[in-house]
Amino acid sequence: MKIDDLLTLIKRRGFYFQAFNIYGEVGGFYDYGPIGVRIKNNLIALWRRTFVEQLGAYEVDTTTIMPEPVFKASGHLTSFTDPLVTCASCKTPHRADKLLEEFYSKKGDAQSIGKIEKMNNGELERELKANKIKCPTCGKSEFGKVETFNLLFKTAMGPTGAVPGYLRPETPQGIFVDFKHLFTVNSMKLPVAIAQTGKVYRNEISPRQQTIRMREFSQMDVEVFFDPEDEKSGLEGPGMKEVEEGEIPVLLKGSKEEEMVAIGDLLKKRVIPNRHFALLLYLENGFALALGFKKGNYRFRQVEVTPHYSRCNFDLEVKTSYDYIELSGLAYRTDYDLSSHAKQSGKDLSVTSDEKKVLPHVVELSIGVDRPLFAILDAVFEEGKDRGWSWLRLNESLAPYRYGVFPLQKDDKLVDKAKALYRKLVSMHVPVYYSEAGSIGKRYAKADEIGVPYCITIDYDTLTDDTVTIRNRDDAKQVRKSVSEVS
Ligand code: ATP
Repeated sequence: MKIDDLLTLIKRRGFYFQAFNIYGEVGGFYDYGPIGVRIKNNLIALWRRTFVEQLGAYEVDTTTIMPEPVFKASGHLTSFTDPLVTCASCKTPHRADKLLEEFYSKKGDAQSIGKIEKMNNGELERELKANKIKCPTCGKSEFGKVETFNLLFKTAMGPTGAVPGYLRPETPQGIFVDFKHLFTVNSMKLPVAIAQTGKVYRNEISPRQQTIRMREFSQMDVEVFFDPEDEKSGLEGPGMKEVEEGEIPVLLKGSKEEEMVAIGDLLKKRVIPNRHFALLLYLENGFALALGFKKGNYRFRQVEVTPHYSRCNFDLEVKTSYDYIELSGLAYRTDYDLSSHAKQSGKDLSVTSDEKKVLPHVVELSIGVDRPLFAILDAVFEEGKDRGWSWLRLNESLAPYRYGVFPLQKDDKLVDKAKALYRKLVSMHVPVYYSEAGSIGKRYAKADEIGVPYCITIDYDTLTDDTVTIRNRDDAKQVRKSVSEVS
């Protein structure tokens, strides 16, 4: 099966792997190896180019441990919970909502999936029983009570242990807490985008399916702050005409079918609330395509039940070997966060922009890093039956290296020439690696399977005419080029 072959490749080439494995496994923690790190860094760089640079956003880096009042204000202390149910037979903990979601997903019953989000613990418990849902670990159908479980990791700050702190479960709170200070010292004006990427921590009940559900992972966030009474001012980036004409695949509330809809139509019909939401949807669509997802394999799902602090939510979902998975959440959070932090801290968090005092509203785009990374690998994985090895059709901007440079044989003359070209490319900041190990066919295979788009081979002709062979990963065709043309 494709997924088994992909998982074997990920493991064999060490893209990522179970953390602290020599001490036994604890679910939901992964370490990245060198190839995985390169792809992950490229993914973050692409996010920066797409959102931070295009929106003229201010990128910040806030702490990952924060004191209790932050999460009192954000609501995480009371509401960042999942419904926990334990199998009475094998004692494995599960998320009650996910068990039901999987059950209905297998039946293709989207309507029932939509209802799960609204259910309380008692309803979930009854639904598990009524459908005789089986424990995925032992196959028995003996679940206990559904309980509320808070996902925050708690710690203590300082030697006395008297000051409680929490590992942040998402990146935005640091931005909200710092907002007024950032606004002032950077002389910002509304609307303005502030961005952040970094590690977050969630004590997930049931981490699984690779990097899809982890306990320590990374996020990339953009928060757009704006005056809700000003409908005219826009951020940097593509103009509204281009945005409104952009068509995206959406799955609207209550609908069974995805449809291509112009963003302008969503705005006109007030399905989406404002121009900032529209702009982020537009950029996100371009981002999804740049990551390698194809039309028909991803969609923007209008969330059935929006959280109490939000007026509109669209999740980017991608079809993977497992199922559709959510890669990001776009939400209109109104002034919920700034109001809550103002109340909790006793500080006025409104700002003055164009001589008007405003407590800004916020549109937030929160994208995972590790979950999209898995979805990308899954989307670009080619079984490669024709060439005898599986490989990755990674977009060049995500590929770990642009070139592999190989001497045809371990002949000093070829090795010297190949190393000189390798060093020249390194000095030009081109991502490149050198290899002389194994047959040339094996080296092509090893390059293909980590998604390197081009392989350069130095052979005996190179010594006389300074040309090299460049092999294209996607069609395995080779062309001869002058060394001076390689960049
Ligand atoms: P889910 O419903 O799957 O738990 P969520 O709605 O809680 O996800 P958000 O809080 O919106 O997720 O987080 C934004 C993004 O962060 C997600 O779309 C996903 O890409 C990523 N993410 C969230 N939780 C995890 C996790 N446990 N492991 C890996 N990535 C995650």
